[in-house]
Amino acid sequence: MSEPDARKIRLLMELRRAGISDSGALRAIEKTPRDLFVGPGWQDRAYEDSALPIECGQTISQPFIVALMTQALELNDRHKVLEIGTGSGYQTAILSRLARRVYTMERYRSLLREAQKRFEALKLTNIVALAADGGKGWPDQAPFDRIIVTAAAPVRPDVLLDQLKPDGIMVAPVNSEDGQHLIRYRKHGEEIEEEMLADVRFVPLVEGLARGG
Ligand code: SAH
Repeated sequence: MSEPDARKIRLLMELRRAGISDSGALRAIEKTPRDLFVGPGWQDRAYEDSALPIECGQTISQPFIVALMTQALELNDRHKVLEIGTGSGYQTAILSRLARRVYTMERYRSLLREAQKRFEALKLTNIVALAADGGKGWPDQAPFDRIIVTAAAPVRPDVLLDQLKPDGIMVAPVNSEDGQHLIRYRKHGEEIEEEMLADVRFVPLVEGLARGG
């Protein structure tokens, strides 16, 4: 067994121990080489359960949080998913293995380009990527079965909830007076149920396309 494989198996055991039980999420993580997604010089730490730096001052999320968010989405292969904050594309790659199609948005063109190269290298062909302000969602492609936001919103992102199907699920980090929480929203017709999943620390959701990036 190669060294990265051994490290990956150790990471999967840690995730299980930390309460991740969704076999789809665990299998997708097993199939996805995180060392391809981390910033230059961080490959040695790719299978540690920690967030790591990527380009443009952003971060690739901690594997536990990726697993928790994926599990919380209750995905199946009929789902059309919207992701805000492509970053490295790691979470996107995980989603693409479990959903029918993933629409992903990133405000840094350069990050998006790098992520798209990784999707090609891994032959992930069900991902549509767009450089744009994800805070506005993707009205042309709405509604979505599932929405995942990987940057922290200042308040409940109602614009995105409007683009969710009835019975849809959205998972997003949201800031509040007592810190940042990962929230799962479930739509039941017009009703929206909110559930707090964890305390988290994501980079902020920023308005507009990044200049020059
Ligand atoms: N899921 C990513 C996490 C990246 S960090 C990964 O695991 O690699 C969050 C990303 O959200 C950053 O790349 C940041 O540029 C992006 N982002 C922040 N605000 C945004 C917005 N309004 N629209 C699109 N992307 C945004």
